[in-house]
Amino acid sequence: MTTYTDRYQSALMNAFGKPKLALVRGEGAHVWDEDGKEYVDFLGGIAVNALGHAHPALVSAVTEQISTLGHISNFFTSGPQVELAEKLLALVPGGAGGKVFFANSGTEANEAAFKLTRKTGRTHLVAAEGAFHGRTLGALALTSKEAYRAPFEPLPGEVTFVPYGDADALAAAVTDETAAIVLEPIQGEAGVVVPPEGYLAAARRIADEHGALLWLDEVQSGMGRTGHWLAHETTGVTADIVTLAKGLGGGFPIGACIGLGRAATLFEPGNHGTTFGGNPVGCAAGLAVVRTIEQDGILEHVTVLGQKLRDGIAADPRVATVEGEGLFVGVVLPEVDTAKVVAAALEAGFILNNATPDRIRLVPPLVVTQDDVEALLAAWPAILDAAQDSSQEQQ
Ligand SMILES: *Cc1c(COP(=O)(O)O)cnc(C)c1O
Repeated sequence: MTTYTDRYQSALMNAFGKPKLALVRGEGAHVWDEDGKEYVDFLGGIAVNALGHAHPALVSAVTEQISTLGHISNFFTSGPQVELAEKLLALVPGGAGGKVFFANSGTEANEAAFKLTRKTGRTHLVAAEGAFHGRTLGALALTSKEAYRAPFEPLPGEVTFVPYGDADALAAAVTDETAAIVLEPIQGEAGVVVPPEGYLAAARRIADEHGALLWLDEVQSGMGRTGHWLAHETTGVTADIVTLAKGLGGGFPIGACIGLGRAATLFEPGNHGTTFGGNPVGCAAGLAVVRTIEQDGILEHVTVLGQKLRDGIAADPRVATVEGEGLFVGVVLPEVDTAKVVAAALEAGFILNNATPDRIRLVPPLVVTQDDVEALLAAWPAILDAAQDSSQEQQ
């Protein structure tokens, strides 16, 4: 019998390589594959499944909405759309007076933000090395990884890349022609890289000195991932643009570009659009995520359990450092091949991610339980042993 992973290769474009598993079902932070094997999911669909798999609040919000009114176009509005926009403005630092544009993904939220920056009349952008902002051409222009960019050049815009976390380099790159500085408050795809304290505040100052916008991409770091609604909340910095996606819909596709202050009103009718963005179902999903995080005290849960996870992972001497906040965790493993760690973990029933050759990223559902975390911590030394053994066998 051929499996879905075999059939995948003859029917789907080879954009992602061969899938590791075909999954059939999920519940909380657990998923099951087509052979019935169970895994604890510390990837959460790449920081997306904030409420885990098949959360009843999300299931019922989406089911009710699509049974009532599923799609209407942006000639019209709906209750969920307005309510979610109001909610997001209440969560984002400096959100009062801001305005929201809804999209369907992170890259689309960033595409909207990119176009918003053009409406300042300037075209120069400053982004960070190691940054990931998405794969559409505009977002890709802001993404630093050469392998992602090179086949698709020329990319739009005049973009200067500076080392992440280096405020002096940022100050040197920004000019009076700069439309915006775009930064992830904590870099996700780079393997959860936390900038030095004061970096975002310096970016804010530099942007203000030159009349540039500060655009924070919270697509991965936002929506409770760090134990705060937004990762930049703790810095005291107010951005001009904040982009969201991943965790926002808890697995239902939705993204948001939030304009604050003068950035709130840069778009006029005709400047930008979307058929699906802001549809009632996506917005109902977003509302269910926000309300469940509020009602179930999930931010506090993320803070407490994240600390336990990070401390436990760091206890193994092969771990150089553990970076991150809440359940946004980067594990630096200089001596162990992280691809082998991921393979050994999968064998042991845990889904992890090798963000880079020496960094494991852990971004489990925010509702991951203490038992799930304890299970990973108990298995962790043996997973590293198995990864090291398989490296030796190859030599
Ligand atoms: C994942 C990600 C994106 C792109 O989101 P997609 O939904 O995959 O388009 C953009 N920015 C950051 C910081 C991300 O982590």
